[in-house]
Amino acid sequence: MDIDISTWHGAAAARASQALQNGRLGHAQLLCGVPGIGKRVFVRWLARLLLCQQPRLAEQPAPCGECKACRLSDAGTHPDFMALAPEAPAKSIGVDAVRAFNAQLALTAQLSGNRVGIVDPADAMTTNAANGLLKSLEEPPPGTYLILVSDFPARLLPTVRSRCQLIELHRPPASAALAWLAPQVGDEQAKHWLSVARGAPLKALELADEEQRAFRDGLFESFDAVLSHSADPVRAAGRYARAPLASLLSCVDSWTTDLIRLTAAGPGAPMSNTDLRSALSRYGGKLDLQGLFRYLDRVRDSAASPVALNTQLVVEELFISASRLGSTAER
Ligand SMILES: [Zn+2]
Repeated sequence: MDIDISTWHGAAAARASQALQNGRLGHAQLLCGVPGIGKRVFVRWLARLLLCQQPRLAEQPAPCGECKACRLSDAGTHPDFMALAPEAPAKSIGVDAVRAFNAQLALTAQLSGNRVGIVDPADAMTTNAANGLLKSLEEPPPGTYLILVSDFPARLLPTVRSRCQLIELHRPPASAALAWLAPQVGDEQAKHWLSVARGAPLKALELADEEQRAFRDGLFESFDAVLSHSADPVRAAGRYARAPLASLLSCVDSWTTDLIRLTAAGPGAPMSNTDLRSALSRYGGKLDLQGLFRYLDRVRDSAASPVALNTQLVVEELFISASRLGSTAER
């Protein structure tokens, strides 16, 4: 189902198109925001707008959708569109890939108009790769826009960040998110998963998927067992050696955040994981708040790691730390 940029990210879209109209849109952009809010949809929209031969830039900016450039963009075959990404998910972008990308950027435009190069996720670049991109960021070839996309902009080199204009996307309004999500998963489910996903609609849709739900349920069982000392953390972690680490960390992050709320504000605290309220409430007041904050930092450090991590080691370490959170909850 299509995402409506004008209701999801209307303010960011208007700012970008106005800057383009006034000739103030920087040739190096950094697009950031939390996962699951549509950064990739926005960057594709912005690329189409930049490439379009007759874009509407005033009210409700949009690419025309009809010119040759728009048709080529839609087909994914626009010759002046370039993308740099890791060869596989969770892998890094190396210096050779950046060199090849720079060479591509240096070619002249095939169609009369702008050229667009996207680096996504930009935080996957190694230090050498990022250094290799600096010159292109500083002086992109004429008519070329470089857009870096990142969930974790703090992981980028300061020299990379400082050369880019920042586009920060926020969670879309809840009404727009629900209007998009409800037809796909139903009203009740939409509300529930949007809450679990803390307002990130694409993340909510991912969580509502049957396979994801089974994964989350199983993971919670292990997490709960480790917290309450009824399972050995290392043995429990063994089940997750091949698990999708980003999804796993996002679940543990969300549960830990709820445990912090319960510990700090008591049983009536507002929670994201409303389906786990009774299970998580068993720990209310039994865990050390400082320890929980330190634990959450650790989860987030792993999620933001610029290098691919060994899933089994990460989960072992997280489960061992969870078992030390000082729980005395009864099973
Ligand atoms: Zn067009």
